[in-house]
Amino acid sequence: MKFITFIHQEKEQIGVLSLDETKVLRISKVLGHERYHDMNQFLEEATELDLDILAQVRINEKELGVPVDEIKYLAPIVRPKHDIICVGVNYESHRKESTLALNQDLSKQKKPVYFSKRTTRILGYGEEIKGFFEIDTDLDYEVELAVIIGKKGINIPKEQAEDYIFGYSIFNDVSSRTLQKGHLQWYKGKSLDTHSVLGPVILHKSALPFPLKLNVESRVNGEVRQKSNTEFFINDIATIISDFSQGITLEPGDIIATGTPSGVGMGFDPPRFMKKGDVVECEIEQIGVLRNPIS
Ligand code: MG
Repeated sequence: MKFITFIHQEKEQIGVLSLDETKVLRISKVLGHERYHDMNQFLEEATELDLDILAQVRINEKELGVPVDEIKYLAPIVRPKHDIICVGVNYESHRKESTLALNQDLSKQKKPVYFSKRTTRILGYGEEIKGFFEIDTDLDYEVELAVIIGKKGINIPKEQAEDYIFGYSIFNDVSSRTLQKGHLQWYKGKSLDTHSVLGPVILHKSALPFPLKLNVESRVNGEVRQKSNTEFFINDIATIISDFSQGITLEPGDIIATGTPSGVGMGFDPPRFMKKGDVVECEIEQIGVLRNPIS
């Protein structure tokens, strides 16, 4: 089941895609109430029964849906409750290119590397990524699998990690390399407005066998830049959820970006950064394509 947040008739709503993905079924209409104001509330309060009803209607319903070409996609989670939890250098190939490009020795790092992104509003499918070229000339892309947490927990054992997941999405960890290199910490270089991009959907975890084995790819103006598979994670999803939750509570709606493979702009010689007018696409098998222009 694919969950989305969208605008239809000037109203922000949440829905699920029909089986053929041509229509959106509004969750308020299917469940017959307006209790879930946004995706965060749905992730917090939705019951197993709600999910069962949505799954059934998605298969059988012909009339309730809005055609997808009549909606505007927003990020599935527009306003996150907390910062976005990011895992750095989680593919060996990217660890090597980052060690060279950032001039930081990341080769001895055994434990997962965490950093966070601040965002007041996450960008969705089709929305413009703004380049702040007056302060950063090195605008870069990073395709990542995003894990969406569905259940509150702390000190989560690795074997139970999947129970705490609601589903998966695609994240573009847009990065300002000038700022990332200029400041000792990555926080500012990772946190400019419009530089957190999520979507187009959250795919419910029931659609995928765990652990995941999904192709991950990014393209700029149609040219493939990154191509890998989540089976090449240095730290897999269960390890990350278990390790991060030791002493830190995870909540429904939390977003974990699980790291990017090699092929980012700064990894090329000479580097290949994004400029105004470019179109960046991040694709993950089974989930979809996240496409955004640069302005
Ligand atoms: Mg990243």
